[in-house]
Amino acid sequence: MTQPQRALPIILAALLLASLACQTVIQPLAEEEATPAASSTSPGRPSPAPETPPPSSSGSPLCPLPESPLTEQETRPVNPPHASIGDPYAAELGNLGYDVQRYTLALRLDPARPRWVCGTVTIEARATETIDEFALDFIGFALQSLQVNGEEAEYYRTAGKMVIGLDTPLASGEAFEVRVTYSGQTKQVQSRFVPFEESLGLFFPSDENLYALSEPDGSRYWFPSNDHPRDKALFRFEITTPAGLMATANGLLQDEITEDDATTWVWEHAYPMATYLATVSVGDYVEVQNEVVNGVTLRSYATPGSESLLVEELERTADAISWLEDMVGPYPFEAYGYVTVESGGVTLETQTLVTLSTFMIDEAVLVHELAHMWFGNWVSLDSWGQMWRNEGFATYFEYMWGYRDDPQTFDSEMDLLVQTFKISSGYEPLNDLSPANLFGYESYVKGAALLHALRQEVGDTAFFDGLRLYLERFGGGTASDADFIAVMEETSGRSLDNFFQHWLEE
Ligand SMILES: [Zn+2]
Repeated sequence: MTQPQRALPIILAALLLASLACQTVIQPLAEEEATPAASSTSPGRPSPAPETPPPSSSGSPLCPLPESPLTEQETRPVNPPHASIGDPYAAELGNLGYDVQRYTLALRLDPARPRWVCGTVTIEARATETIDEFALDFIGFALQSLQVNGEEAEYYRTAGKMVIGLDTPLASGEAFEVRVTYSGQTKQVQSRFVPFEESLGLFFPSDENLYALSEPDGSRYWFPSNDHPRDKALFRFEITTPAGLMATANGLLQDEITEDDATTWVWEHAYPMATYLATVSVGDYVEVQNEVVNGVTLRSYATPGSESLLVEELERTADAISWLEDMVGPYPFEAYGYVTVESGGVTLETQTLVTLSTFMIDEAVLVHELAHMWFGNWVSLDSWGQMWRNEGFATYFEYMWGYRDDPQTFDSEMDLLVQTFKISSGYEPLNDLSPANLFGYESYVKGAALLHALRQEVGDTAFFDGLRLYLERFGGGTASDADFIAVMEETSGRSLDNFFQHWLEE
């Protein structure tokens, strides 16, 4: 746990607990159960996944090993040009030269077979310049087939990338389709941004539950993608599970097809989404809510034992959505809800369907994740280093909700917090967070204090007009700190250089 426990104003003892949502740990995750194919790993330690399982294993019944996987192709030590989308804080992520329009993840997943994944991912994209090769972020697995526009393609792998060569270059603007068929066990590597988790990607806490946790760099451990918020796309999921279990994902459930002992769950999300917000969970789920309120489909799913607590908390969801809409504008997506997972203490704002730890079913956490739908999901980070615009906003609205019936106390407590940051040193600057502290105290609490100080600085009208303008202007894409500052200067009609210099750089 990396959250610095510095002297806090009194209210924060309670508030901090609530702010532990999103990528923050209350207790360690249950250790991965050893699989038959990896039973020799010592408990509690990251277990290196074999590239190919031992000969005794034939894979999972849902995921048999391929008869003849593609031979692992040459691995080169250096990154090719364009194998970074240009985020200086996380240069290893994302790629240039193309723009993904849509992903279709057709995967077979079984919680009783930890870490096994197999299936086909189809990526519809458009070249943004003339390219004769391009890279995807993808780590691990054996490839069975790789096609570009229906033709087998050559590839090599290097430093988290799969680089695909093209016999015929693609012209700028040309649409193309990549199909990657793969299988095997997920690799488990710790993210330098998430020191409180052994790894990111897919988690298999029990025989009846699995879920994804990808922020910020874990998607590449379970599907090939352009893994950075700067390249958002639409998503379709066709998740096949053992019959009797349900798969959930982002957007709306479109179909459910059972054949023999397996069921395929088809989900589609009709809005652009960053790869780290793509999610899938499999469990013995009970649908605990399904209604349409003001055009938004509210649906939530609970693991056995978590239904009653979740149902109780869900009573306020529609009110919380209206409360946020009154302040910052319309809810941006077609659906909203929560899916509980057997996580030790991590909750993630996966778009339209929050991945909620059964240990964190709490009103403050639910509102925090809801606020992320506007701040983080609809307007995403242009650079991962500006995490305060994800976590600071979500924390600020979480605090505000907690005191919505007592704005005077809210103001005085927030004033205290603002003063604390004004006089305290020893916190990392918000625009220069060390990677291991990306999800630390500063992003959440100092980010929230910044927003309150900004609101005091420019007044309520300019502040909330600015938030609405920011969402309108950058919704569906990403924004930088400079974009946010420009919007606030526009609505307040004044320079905020000194203000932001103090709050971001000191
Ligand atoms: Zn959060």
